[in-house]
Amino acid sequence: SIDFKSIKDNKDAVAANIRNRKSHANLELVLHLYDQMFHLQKEVERLRGDRNAVANKMKGKLEPSERQTLIEQGKNLKEGLIALEEDLVKLNDELQREAQCIPNMTHPDVPIGGEDCSTIRKMVGSPPNFSFPVKDHLQLGKELDLFDFDAAAEVSGSKFYYLKNEAVLLEMALLNWTLSEVMKRGFTPLTTPEIVRSSVVEKCGFQPRANNTQVYSIDDSDQCLIGTAEIPVGGLHMDSILADSMLPLKYAAFSHCFRTEAGAAGTATRGLYRVHQFSKVEMFIFCRPEESEYYHQELIKIEEDIFSSLGLHFKTLDMASEDLGAPAYRKFDVEAWMPGLERFGEISSASNCTDYQSRRLGIRYRPSEAPVVGVKKSKAPPQFVHTLNATACAVPRMIICLLENYQQEDGSILIPEPLRPFMGGLNIITRK
Ligand code: AMP
Repeated sequence: SIDFKSIKDNKDAVAANIRNRKSHANLELVLHLYDQMFHLQKEVERLRGDRNAVANKMKGKLEPSERQTLIEQGKNLKEGLIALEEDLVKLNDELQREAQCIPNMTHPDVPIGGEDCSTIRKMVGSPPNFSFPVKDHLQLGKELDLFDFDAAAEVSGSKFYYLKNEAVLLEMALLNWTLSEVMKRGFTPLTTPEIVRSSVVEKCGFQPRANNTQVYSIDDSDQCLIGTAEIPVGGLHMDSILADSMLPLKYAAFSHCFRTEAGAAGTATRGLYRVHQFSKVEMFIFCRPEESEYYHQELIKIEEDIFSSLGLHFKTLDMASEDLGAPAYRKFDVEAWMPGLERFGEISSASNCTDYQSRRLGIRYRPSEAPVVGVKKSKAPPQFVHTLNATACAVPRMIICLLENYQQEDGSILIPEPLRPFMGGLNIITRK
């Protein structure tokens, strides 16, 4: 449930936030619809009261003519009520639809502005020194027979790929190693449905039916393909009240991700960088509100540990307001150095969504109260949990990083130490 009262009471701050995030939300319309709802509800209540009064009068002793008048009145009131209740449902649908577009509020430390305003929180490692001409992952993959983009284009379309030979082992090793790393840190492994109801996608703060949506919808159904496991994991505890003792709930979910990449024309799309389907391990936390900033720092630290263990050169960014999307209150991205592409590329993202998703998904918890001597224990009212999500490993860009950073002069690829046990001891990919 969206907190309309708070939106109305903090109208100026909400309007400034919408501007800062370059959101298309229409606050004036939302407030207008909310006021209309309020008046219509009052009118419905008044009519219900009148109808009950008429029904009560009918219970008394009445002349036939009086009874007839009351029957007429009752009938008119009932018809009026049905019409108003229908209006109320339509108005509420419109209000909810418009209100879904209002973004989360923004952490005070978030830089205001576009992509260029994002600030660097941390820089780790340095770019590798190569004493030979560097190749990009496409060329390396071709020489080592690791991908087939041409066949995928015929079978599926552009931006699809087959992985072959050691690239398949590398994908499995990345997923299994990452999963084992996050399980060590207390995350429960999950695999998830990859087709979900559109309503759940909406409740997580994404708009499956908007223009330029990243979400694939399935024709003649109310279902979509997931763009990230964040959606099914967010939905896992939908419409429930969790016990305080269950929190924090930490999940590590493996799934495939499907993205239309609408609007991505002209951006870096070479090879594996921007594709329609990829596999990913996603971390997701449900926690008490006062703990979400702490867990946000924990998530970015886990990501940094993972990428450091793989020996990558990367930076961590505090993303600017226009780059947060609707659900995030604050977002940290990691960008790693890709020598063949000769630039940093985003490899992961960690977001604190505060109560934005939990309000829409209806996920609350009942705080346990510290017992006070002599005071009878009262039941604390349920509160909305906070949700956070973060990429542990999104495979295609990790493969780019590994091939391009670990290439040798003869075109072979060294496998970073941590992945070797997950590849049957393989330590180098060489030409066949
Ligand atoms: P996001 O959920 O958009 O924050 O994406 C999480 C991670 O998934 C990104 O940091 C990328 O590593 C990866 N990713 C996102 N979109 C794509 C794509 N179209 N192709 C390949 N990897 C992607």
